Amino acid sequence: MGSLNPKLPPPLPPAPPKIWTPREGPVPGSKPLRYVATFEEILQPTPDVRLFRLTLDGYSRVIPFIAGQFIQMICPVPDKANPGKMKEIIRSYSIASAPEETNFLEFCIKVVLEGAFTPTLWEKRVGDKIDVRGPYGKFIVTQPVEHDLVFIAAGTGIAPFWGMIQSLLLSGVKRDMVLLFGVRYEADLLYEKEFKELAARYPNFKPVFTLSRPLHPETWWGERGYVQTLLPKYVKNPAQTKAYICGLTPMIDASVASLEALGFTSDRIHYERYD
Ligand SMILES: Cc1cc2nc3c(=O)[nH]c(=O)nc-3n(C[C@H](O)[C@H](O)[C@H](O)COP(=O)(O)OP(=O)(O)OC[C@H]3O[C@@H](n4cnc5c(N)ncnc54)[C@H](O)[C@@H]3O)c2cc1C
Repeated sequence: MGSLNPKLPPPLPPAPPKIWTPREGPVPGSKPLRYVATFEEILQPTPDVRLFRLTLDGYSRVIPFIAGQFIQMICPVPDKANPGKMKEIIRSYSIASAPEETNFLEFCIKVVLEGAFTPTLWEKRVGDKIDVRGPYGKFIVTQPVEHDLVFIAAGTGIAPFWGMIQSLLLSGVKRDMVLLFGVRYEADLLYEKEFKELAARYPNFKPVFTLSRPLHPETWWGERGYVQTLLPKYVKNPAQTKAYICGLTPMIDASVASLEALGFTSDRIHYERYD
């Protein structure tokens, strides 16, 4: 249909919406929505952890989110109380990819063998679908960053930090950032090569890897022991540092106690519990 007045040119198309950047916080007025997602790629970096890359059906880009946020996966699983029947359950997963990666959402998930959800997730293959909704969560680093940062993770608690650290470095944050990442054995390390590559490019970022039970202590090149025991060694300036902790309750509680012993006040300690 042309212009109503044939002498006038047709009206201009509407102005494009303002382009949102992850550093601005949530999209104003945005609500978590439900999507159908496709498993685009499934990788297995360690014996019991998989990286799931999901795309959203009907969308060419993934949803806007802030690094550190999570989504919920919704899926029918066998109902243990009613053999032969299925029931829908919901589990939360940190988005491991950075918001700057718009092609897929990555998740870094450990299989809990006796768990209700993850054994079903382990049956998923490339091309399968799953319902997701989000994003949710306030476990984020607010900009501008005016403190040094220490990130403390055990196991798949590393997930939000992979996205957060990439995003902070990409956005030009110059404050010192230390990552203390602990697993049991050498073979359990996640994103090791990737974090080392980031450290080679950004001198203000230092990743520290620690094993609680090294199988080959003679060749292990990193630290030993639990993450929280390394805090006095690697937090150089406790009064000017904010701490972010992610993982299971015992590690979080032990890390909070170590941070408090270093003089951290509660407003500078943030955590995300997985259990
Ligand atoms: C905000 C949020 C984000 C999360 N993000 C992740 C993530 O990125 N990756 C991830 O692997 N899990 C994550 N979790 C945990 C996840 O939601 C599930 O609890 C987990 O996958 C187990 O589900 P399940 O139904 O198989 O086990 P359930 O039947 O629910 O059994 C739960 C048991 O599994 C243990 N458990 C839960 N998570 C883990 C874990 N990661 N490692 C070891 N033991 C665990 C708990 O101690 C609990 O005893 C997150 C949880 C929350 C609340």
